[in-house]
Amino acid sequence: MPSEEALKITTARSHHPSDDPGSDNPLTSEDIGHILGTIQNPNAADFGRYYLLEENIDLSERLYKQIQAFPKVKNWYEPRDDFILDLCRLALREVLSEVKSRCWTCKGSKGMRLTKAHVQAMNQDPRRVQKFREGQLIDCLKCAGTGRRGVSDHDRADFLGIPMQSFKDPWKPRYGVVMGKVNDWHTVLTAAIGPGLERKILQKLGEA
Ligand SMILES: [Zn+2]
Repeated sequence: MPSEEALKITTARSHHPSDDPGSDNPLTSEDIGHILGTIQNPNAADFGRYYLLEENIDLSERLYKQIQAFPKVKNWYEPRDDFILDLCRLALREVLSEVKSRCWTCKGSKGMRLTKAHVQAMNQDPRRVQKFREGQLIDCLKCAGTGRRGVSDHDRADFLGIPMQSFKDPWKPRYGVVMGKVNDWHTVLTAAIGPGLERKILQKLGEA
């Protein structure tokens, strides 16, 4: 159920003449912050600040502690220190990049700088007249310069610094457990502010 405060705000806004879809969205960050302030569950509220307001708060330690409470996690053998903590960081980063389906590689900037390795690989074609050079800014190769792309298992394995095969087995299903916890926070958040309002905020973020 949306909180009373959130309802008051959304109801007030639904009578606003410029509130129909297609017109300028009048919702401000202050409005959103105010609504999030009414959420009782601190994890869901902070997740909302991170997810909907893109506030720079680190939720990874909190997520990590909650994951540790699952009995099966005791049997997860970490290939290195802080690996499970990094799994939490990955989940949080992935959730945020979903908001705008922002490209993981260029972070939505649409461009990328060529590294030495790129240049070596790309200049191999002898027919190419104009050679690429290191540091050159080109359209992002992963999203073809659109700035938008989903996260792949390859991106996830890369982030964790493990081979793709190790990600698929055993870490992918375990990552699902971590994501499940984030989704729990998300579910409480959506229930508190209402799915309609959340969609509206995400739409606003996607346009930004
Ligand atoms: Zn990109």
